[in-house]
Amino acid sequence: MKHRETKQKKVRKENLSDWYHWILEEADIVDSRYSIKGMLVYKKWGLLIIREMQRYLESLLEESGHEPTLFPVLIPEDILGKETQHIAGFEEQVFWVTHAGENKLERKLALRPTSETSIYEMFRLWIRSHTDLPLKVHQSCAVYRYETKHTRPLIRGREFLWNEGHAAHADKEDAKKNILEIQDIYGKLIRELLCMPFLIDRRPDWDRFPGADDTYAFDTIMPDGKTLQIATVHDLGQNFSTVFDITYEDSEGKHQHIYQTSYGPSFGRLLAALISIHGDDRGLVLPPKIAPLQVIIIPIIFKESDTAEIMEYAKKIRKKLDSMDVRTEIDAGEERPGAKFYYWEMKGVPLRLEVGPKDLKEKKITVVRRDTGDKSTIAFDEVDDVCKIFEDMSKDLGEKAEKGFNGKMFEAPALEDVGKYAGKGVIKIGWCGRKACAEEIGGYVSILNVDGDPLECVVCGDKGQGVRAAKTY
Ligand SMILES: [Zn+2]
Repeated sequence: MKHRETKQKKVRKENLSDWYHWILEEADIVDSRYSIKGMLVYKKWGLLIIREMQRYLESLLEESGHEPTLFPVLIPEDILGKETQHIAGFEEQVFWVTHAGENKLERKLALRPTSETSIYEMFRLWIRSHTDLPLKVHQSCAVYRYETKHTRPLIRGREFLWNEGHAAHADKEDAKKNILEIQDIYGKLIRELLCMPFLIDRRPDWDRFPGADDTYAFDTIMPDGKTLQIATVHDLGQNFSTVFDITYEDSEGKHQHIYQTSYGPSFGRLLAALISIHGDDRGLVLPPKIAPLQVIIIPIIFKESDTAEIMEYAKKIRKKLDSMDVRTEIDAGEERPGAKFYYWEMKGVPLRLEVGPKDLKEKKITVVRRDTGDKSTIAFDEVDDVCKIFEDMSKDLGEKAEKGFNGKMFEAPALEDVGKYAGKGVIKIGWCGRKACAEEIGGYVSILNVDGDPLECVVCGDKGQGVRAAKTY
């Protein structure tokens, strides 16, 4: 293993942007040097983390009645353009395929910027009767958007990985029920698997998904105080079913247009938030449930003659952990233990087990937590304790992140205060609901949600609501 060489000089996390780029490369998350701007090469460690998220999310979706599907990446122009608001929202960002070899294609084909249109074209064929409803499908795939803004690895790119869910409902109530269920599923993914806090914000109308009646966004706060939208859930009403003519026969034999919902978290943005929220000066800090490797065993050998016995002990520990489904490896490389510690800390592996001559003699194991650096010893017969330590770690990481999050909540009674807190976190402000006042506020921050307690508008002084606002990624 020659992976131990440090590629670049270490960066402190207080310089968040430099630190972020350092760790993406150092930990083999992605390589952003590919020759198309905004398109990344996902590397082993990054992709393994994404796969864990994907596995967890897909199983929750399938438990809740979603069928796995995979639709083609190309969408014909006439289908993508059917819902006028939808295409208006994406027009500027679509990549087009216009040729096959030398021949110009009869109809232009779009690289999917999202899959509502291609999926609903098939929903029209699949849905006949009320017994076909609800119909729920999901797919994990890449989508393509020609971003003109400054691209940033995993946060804003031209190709990104996500999971998108699409559901067809007989009525509005079933659609609302599904929105709550999906919010719950995404909440589990973000809080339980990734140990991150979040807000659910119902977006103002100009910030909705193109073609939706309502958009509920999951926002988290990055350590620099800007918010990052990590997932969205859309209430599509009957906007798409009307233009795609998706109907079902109700129990009285009448044809009705279906109601629809669509939703998706971005795996890249979730990963960016995970790295930034939990990481420290030494590198990644991964919550146990998401870590591709949960335990690294490092044999500490002083005398050559001890090697065989210590290695055998390490393997015995590993076997026990394997039987508990704990993702474990032994680092038997030639390097000094210090270099190994440094490397696996940078990779964010939650627990390091050190086994040396003293541990072997006393049938003990030295355990070091990545998040706190706390060192303890457990008996070989109590290896099960590792799971208890994982639980404590998840809880502690969640609480620490929550504390950081709560420390970035401000209130601005007047417009001057908005300027004071802009870029430091989420600001509660009074807003009357008028676009003109939002634009005035928008000089500093964007309005994240539209629901809140009664509060006077910071711009015009009229009656309004206390809403959340922030500088966003
Ligand atoms: Zn106002």
